[in-house]
Amino acid sequence: MRILIAEDDQVLADGLLRSLRASGAAVDHVASGTEADAALMTNTEFDLLILDLGLPRLHGLEVLRKLRGRGSALPVLILTAADAVEERVRGLDYGADDYMAKPFSLQELEARVRALTRRGAGVSSSTIRHGPLVYDQAGRVASIDGKLLELSARELGLLEVLLQRVGRLVSKDQLVEHLCQWGEEVSNNAIEVYIHRLRKKIEKGPIRIATVRGLGYCLEKLQP
Ligand code: CA
Repeated sequence: MRILIAEDDQVLADGLLRSLRASGAAVDHVASGTEADAALMTNTEFDLLILDLGLPRLHGLEVLRKLRGRGSALPVLILTAADAVEERVRGLDYGADDYMAKPFSLQELEARVRALTRRGAGVSSSTIRHGPLVYDQAGRVASIDGKLLELSARELGLLEVLLQRVGRLVSKDQLVEHLCQWGEEVSNNAIEVYIHRLRKKIEKGPIRIATVRGLGYCLEKLQP
């Protein structure tokens, strides 16, 4: 999961970065509205935007308006001051999916982040089932036939991206975009290695990750 945080309060941003990275997400941070706008225009593989409305240079509402103006359906969680009711309402009217008023608990924010990214992927429960494979997004564990799988953070991240797109082709570039924050280098070759390891652990029974040569991978649909 790849998250962009647009927040100019460095202390709050650091707390968000730490807590979301600890929960397994790849997280990038910008501190102004113009940077947020530029990042959203150049990278379309974010799974969620956490947007402070009171941003310097370009107001958060403008960032949101421009994003929706480009036709993006990216889930957006806005952060507002506790007393900024009018701003919050405008944010929701401009197409934000949820809001949190400052100050808020990181635990609650994490739960809302999980709910929003699930909704963005068209999944309604925090548990994703794929035949005998069960992935618990909140607990960050996966099992097959009730037996817990020992997966690294990268393998788990990869599995999450594929599970949210069953039957659809996911390119190596897309996988890199969803798994890596800025400054992290993961080559296409490394993705091949992760896929190879993941396959060895999950391709039991009917589960298959198909390779589409030169294009990417696809977690195959199961026969009913
Ligand atoms: Ca602010």
